[in-house]
Amino acid sequence: MRVLIVEDEKRLAETLKDMLEMDGYTADTRYDGESGLDEALSGIYDVCILDVMLPKIDGFTVLKRLREAKSGLPVLLLTARSEVSDRVRGLDSGADYYLTKPFEPKELLACVRALTRRQPELRETGVIEYGDLTLEKSGFALRCGERSLRLSKKEYDLMELLMLNRELVLTKENILLKIWGYESGDENSVEVYISFLRRKLSHLRSAVRIRTIRMAGYRLEKAAES
Ligand code: CA
Repeated sequence: MRVLIVEDEKRLAETLKDMLEMDGYTADTRYDGESGLDEALSGIYDVCILDVMLPKIDGFTVLKRLREAKSGLPVLLLTARSEVSDRVRGLDSGADYYLTKPFEPKELLACVRALTRRQPELRETGVIEYGDLTLEKSGFALRCGERSLRLSKKEYDLMELLMLNRELVLTKENILLKIWGYESGDENSVEVYISFLRRKLSHLRSAVRIRTIRMAGYRLEKAAES
């Protein structure tokens, strides 16, 4: 797995590179948006860690150009700013996940692992597995051992998002944008659908839980690990 780090704070970029290499990844660094974009478009990377504030071309624009070029490269956006508008802008311009600086190295590694795993798994098989659960794109079926049930389209979309981002905190805002889009829906819809899914998980007697993280959002996890 090859990771591209586009970050102009060289010490941080090198730290990230060392951390990823210790974890078994190959990592390259670029220190500005222009060369970062060129590299990202090369097609040799599995994930890109992209800073927002960059010389030459900023991270939002790099991301926008990547998506305009039809690149599906998973992008983890790093932002020093935590304002809602920036996060919305990041997700809206095609980021897969964002972290606000400063972040825990463990959290970054968990994100990179999630992003490198999700693409091939779903695209090649249409099936995602986590813990005792299997989610199938065809028929929107959620299975646990012998038991299975059918999800509505929205429930499926939400469950897919949770399973692809397993063990990561998803904010209500992030969920809202990815499932309901910019304009429609409100945070109440997210709560309602989370409760639908919780009921279904309990009906399936799954050991997987959607945990509420206070003031942050939701995290899909295996009960035994919590
Ligand atoms: Ca920067």
